[in-house]
Amino acid sequence: MTYSWSRIGGHLALDLCNTVSWRLDPARTIDRVPDLGTASEWFHQLTGIEPFTDHTTVATVHRLRAATTRILDAHLDAITPDSQNVATVVTAWRDALGVADVAPALPLAATSAEVGTHLALAIADLLGHDRPELRRCDGDGCGWLFLDTTRNHSRRWCDPADCGNRARVRAYTKRLQAAHPAGSRGQHPTATAH
Ligand SMILES: [Zn+2]
Repeated sequence: MTYSWSRIGGHLALDLCNTVSWRLDPARTIDRVPDLGTASEWFHQLTGIEPFTDHTTVATVHRLRAATTRILDAHLDAITPDSQNVATVVTAWRDALGVADVAPALPLAATSAEVGTHLALAIADLLGHDRPELRRCDGDGCGWLFLDTTRNHSRRWCDPADCGNRARVRAYTKRLQAAHPAGSRGQHPTATAH
């Protein structure tokens, strides 16, 4: 069965970070793009660009993902991002601008079908703008990142049917156990997004 990678981030750079499931719980963490086959299929699924075939590019994908995730975590935790991570992204951005295609029309936009360049440009776009709507899922151990575009900015979960459902089931089980201390068990939620 082909894995369908999440697009819940609302931005390619966030969907890149979200290729790690349960990243805040080391016991459950799963890298969804660990090798060339999965990484290139992920890139193809999300961008429509031809899959890439160069093994060394996978390391670039992983390096950009790690740096971006750490910068965003630091931002969400209101701490200064690690300068090494910022340097990784800035270097990739500079390199990308040097080789990207820019059509002679306004607004000038740099594009590229090469995975490292394409991702670096997407990351620069994400980090180069104020993002007050940036959120990290409240789900236990989840850590997925997304742009909350709801009208009242109330989105808490990567997916209400996944982490949201787990939280509801946990709260329900807690209430049951409080009411009937012995032998109460909640139902197990069904995972969908991860
Ligand atoms: Zn979640």
